[in-house]
Amino acid sequence: MNHLATDRVLETPALDVAGIRAQFPILERQVHGRPLIYFDNAATSQTPLCVIDTFRDYYSRYNANIHRGLHTLADEATAAYEATRETVRAFLNAADRREIVFTRGTTEAINLVANSWGRANLQPGDEVLVSLLEHHSNIVPWQLLADQLGIVVKVIPVDERGVLDLDAYRALFNERTRLVAVNHVSNAFGTINPVRELATIAHGHGARILIDGAQATPHQTVDVRDIDADFYAFSGHKVYGPTGAGVLYGKAELLEAMPPWQGGGEMIKSVSFDVPTTFADIPHKFEAGTPAIAEVIALGVALDWVSDVGLARIGTWEAELLARATAGVSRIDGLRLLGTAPDKAGVLSFVVDGAHSQDIALLIDQLGVAIRTGNHCAQPLLARFGVDATCRASFAVYNTPEEVDAFVAALERVIGMVR
Ligand SMILES: *Cc1c(COP(=O)(O)O)cnc(C)c1O
Repeated sequence: MNHLATDRVLETPALDVAGIRAQFPILERQVHGRPLIYFDNAATSQTPLCVIDTFRDYYSRYNANIHRGLHTLADEATAAYEATRETVRAFLNAADRREIVFTRGTTEAINLVANSWGRANLQPGDEVLVSLLEHHSNIVPWQLLADQLGIVVKVIPVDERGVLDLDAYRALFNERTRLVAVNHVSNAFGTINPVRELATIAHGHGARILIDGAQATPHQTVDVRDIDADFYAFSGHKVYGPTGAGVLYGKAELLEAMPPWQGGGEMIKSVSFDVPTTFADIPHKFEAGTPAIAEVIALGVALDWVSDVGLARIGTWEAELLARATAGVSRIDGLRLLGTAPDKAGVLSFVVDGAHSQDIALLIDQLGVAIRTGNHCAQPLLARFGVDATCRASFAVYNTPEEVDAFVAALERVIGMVR
């Protein structure tokens, strides 16, 4: 063990993985008569009991629509919903809770920026830079704007390891560059991008930066002020929370200047057919209609849970799992890892000579192991590496070294069967 690792262990006491696992009822499940090994965490993470219980509590005790009620239940629901805004503010170290907009998830958050900020600020010929590492949800909204507004989408390339080419990034800027849209951590390869540096470079050229944090928030602390992100998006269901609730962080001065995207209840000050309708202040201007109240409250519970476990501890644990898995699969003949960035989150993407990724995933499921196969919503990236699918194992805090070893053994067995 090197010096750094020793120091880190001393700072962060060992993770109680048994105690953590006991909080996830789904991990007791059997799949095809075997104990579930859940390695599809980059698609969605499992939820601890405290998050699950939040739904029962909400619907049993204080289910009510928020903000407009003058009765006890509505007050309680509003208080819990708005308390989550403060939880998220602290989680991202944002300056002001008005900078936290609740959305359905990362996809909706990015579409909000594209359709509100984008339509208000982009002219035909303006340029948006996206990276080759992006999830489709940070590509397609900009392509739609390209079709509709005549903006130009340019792509930041990656090297053989799946690391962003920073020289090429710098060279892409010109006087028409308005926005950089990049992920913090790649879901397909696990590459951790130097978002602070990317932001500094973007700002140096007068461009804004939107960061897709869907894969970063579960694995490392995020400080939007330290990064100097203009926008930052993430999804609850990838950070031990429920589906249906996510977050858009935006700097207050940007959100204030942006027009509403969706219109409806909750987002107005006054509505009239005679004088112009006026809109609520941020963040409510961007939260039209009844939101996913229970989901948002449960997201707050999930973020508190993550903070209690400690993101530093989670990151160290997952790095150990990744190292063990990488070493294990590297011994398998004909297996090729995609995404070998030195700075990487707990994602293992690979293809195997003479074996279809889909066959591997289906057969390994028979052994109780859940991994994902396909294009991981990152078709352009996979095309760059000459494949249309990979197998992907991705780790979370409740996974164990024993599961990693069982996965490697199962993988060897399955490959032996299909070759
Ligand atoms: C999952 C994911 C998304 C999309 O998130 P949704 O919850 O489906 O909206 C976007 N970007 C990355 C990097 C992701 O991993």
